Amino acid sequence: KKKGKDQYAIFEPSMRESFQKHLEMEADLRRAVLRHEFQLRFQPIVRLATGEISGLEALVRWQHPERGMIPPLDFIPLAEETGMIVPIGEWVLREACRQAAHWNRQRPEDQWLTVSVNLSAVQLDRTDLPDVVNAALTDSGLPAHRLVIELTESLLVDHRQETLERLHAIKDLGVRLAIDDFGTGYSSLAYLRRFPVDIIKIDKSFVDDVGDVPAAAALTLGIIQLGQALQLSTVAEGIEDAGQLSELADGNCELGQGYYFAEPLTTDAMQELLFPADKQ
Ligand code: C2E
Ligand code: MG
Ligand code: MG
Ligand code: MG
Repeated sequence: KKKGKDQYAIFEPSMRESFQKHLEMEADLRRAVLRHEFQLRFQPIVRLATGEISGLEALVRWQHPERGMIPPLDFIPLAEETGMIVPIGEWVLREACRQAAHWNRQRPEDQWLTVSVNLSAVQLDRTDLPDVVNAALTDSGLPAHRLVIELTESLLVDHRQETLERLHAIKDLGVRLAIDDFGTGYSSLAYLRRFPVDIIKIDKSFVDDVGDVPAAAALTLGIIQLGQALQLSTVAEGIEDAGQLSELADGNCELGQGYYFAEPLTTDAMQELLFPADKQ
């Protein structure tokens, strides 16, 4: 008993500290939602054959008043745990649609830009998700086929029948679905059969080695061919150099994104990239 007590005494301070930190972060996050401390970055998605920008992925950031810019992986897990991902995610969706509709209106002849938004499992659990998506489209004026919802495989793992129905309801609006980080889950191929997917995003871990590891190249080209056979678009994630690009383009990968083209950009920087002629 004494030993147990000692162990408890040793363990306690660090436990209390991390619990304290957790509570602080949670309070900060609640305040952030009320005070609109979130921002979007936009990363171009490029047509590999031509180099033209075909779409953008919206990526959330938290501009914390004391701690500076916080990347999504540092707060989304807590936001999911506390349910705050629901208002945050709705803001991301609305803001991404609004901004993409605005950019498309600056080139009204072709409405060329798509915008991709990442969705978390907690959002997918909500019965009102199709209504939320529909409202974001209606209020922004973005055509439904210009919106892509990105889902990770982990999100699809413990899905229920309602999840599938909800995804179909979203697809019925005309919105397209992408599987993000494809190839990192346990049964990627099964998801392609089960879910009404339009786009495969090949995970960066495959793309990383595509120029120099034959097995990685073979796997990546295999995924691209699989996508083609199923009439899905393929997007390679995390392209960082010209060698990867040429390998992927030679393999007929349709689209790609990565630092080689551009990092996620602020709205202003993206405006300049999309409409360079406006820059006097
Ligand atoms: P993701 O959806 O797979 O997004 C791609 C991530 O890879 C982004 O990180 C992007 O900045 C990064 N990236 C893109 N190109 C390159 C490259 O060439 N090299 C390297 N090293 N990285 C590259 P970010 O913005 O930190 O986002 C991380 C993840 O957070 C996202 O992964 C997504 O799962 C999640 N996330 C971001 N925004 C949201 C959001 O609004 N809602 C939800 N639920 N999740 C989000
Ligand atoms: Mg994504
Ligand atoms: Mg990804
Ligand atoms: Mg990733």
